[in-house]
Amino acid sequence: MSSPSVQLLSSWASNVSPSPTLAVDAKAKAMAAAGEDVAGFGAGEPDFDTPEFIKEAAIAALRAGRTKYAPTPGIEELRKALAEKYRAEYGLAVEPAQVIVSPGGKFSCYLAILAVCSPGDEVIVPAPYWVSYPEMVKLAGGVPKFLFAGDDTGFKITPDQLEGAITPKTRLLVLNSPSNPTGAIYSRGEMERLVEVALRHGIKIMSDEIYEHLVYDGGEHVCPAAFGKEAAEAIITVSGFSKTYSMTGWRLGTTVAPKAIAKAIVDLQSQTSSNATTFAQYGALAALREKEQAQAALATMMEAFDRRRRYLQAGLEAIPGMRCLLPGGAFYVFPNISAFGLDSSTFAARVLEQEKVALVPGVAFGADDYVRLSYATSDAVIEKGLQRLTRFCGGLDR
Ligand SMILES: *Cc1c(COP(=O)(O)O)cnc(C)c1O
Repeated sequence: MSSPSVQLLSSWASNVSPSPTLAVDAKAKAMAAAGEDVAGFGAGEPDFDTPEFIKEAAIAALRAGRTKYAPTPGIEELRKALAEKYRAEYGLAVEPAQVIVSPGGKFSCYLAILAVCSPGDEVIVPAPYWVSYPEMVKLAGGVPKFLFAGDDTGFKITPDQLEGAITPKTRLLVLNSPSNPTGAIYSRGEMERLVEVALRHGIKIMSDEIYEHLVYDGGEHVCPAAFGKEAAEAIITVSGFSKTYSMTGWRLGTTVAPKAIAKAIVDLQSQTSSNATTFAQYGALAALREKEQAQAALATMMEAFDRRRRYLQAGLEAIPGMRCLLPGGAFYVFPNISAFGLDSSTFAARVLEQEKVALVPGVAFGADDYVRLSYATSDAVIEKGLQRLTRFCGGLDR
């Protein structure tokens, strides 16, 4: 008897790649667990604990029995507090009905893409990009179109570049400022010009602002949805609690969208994840309400990040052949390694093997001439890692 040939996996599952950043981090942690002295720069999360007052609020919520389903888009108090936050911080008029709390900022991004992108639609993704955007676009049936901007332009695309990439099929532009992996920040003027191009062509924007509060040197984070009525009607703003409040494991992302899109996102969420964890949302509510405590915790973290940022960038820049911009935000540096004649995967594999330094190859972010190092790690690891990288690079031909 002949059996019909059965394909085990769907086209979606066969085409998706695993997150390379999580993979590097897992490998470094496994090596460390096996007793190896690894200098890990793979982390995509703050190395600080969640502030105590946030934990206490979640514990109190658990004790009070907040253990049941919540409304799909989030508890009402938190949506109100988020709407108020956008008004206070950016002057963006938001109604609670436009706010959705989701299980992680990553899921917020995915739902935003699903809500506006149909099969065959093109989505413009500036590169270097966050690893998940292209995969999410593909899972929505869309086609990612990459626009590259290297360190020579500060990792920022220009309005002309954007204009040139737009076709009749373009549906969405993805923006991520401050950027993971480059730490680049678009200024108000730069952001206004990009938004102007998108609006003129009737293109929606997903603005991933998860690093909105991780900005150095007194720089300004710009929330493009606050540029005016037209912008507010075209832009989906994604953020969350993971990075600002060291709450990665809590899985709490946020979306602010025009009403019709917000409703679609709630419907999509209602049929997939349902609400984000109920008691966790009370912790997030405390983070927004207890502004002084939240500000103090953030300031402590930012002081450490700022010191490490300068130290790591200066150390990398001092390695002959390496070129490394000083990032304006987030907690990553993205040095250019092209002078060493190795692709980024080979570079990363060899430096892990020879020197036990874990970093993420730039190819994962659509930039094979670079590697990403996270400075959400201790000063001791940075010092050790810099010594090892200097030795490693000194042994390579240039
Ligand atoms: C960390 C991150 C997110 C969201 O993270 P969650 O842990 O899912 O909240 C979204 N976008 C970028 C660029 C990130 O680096």
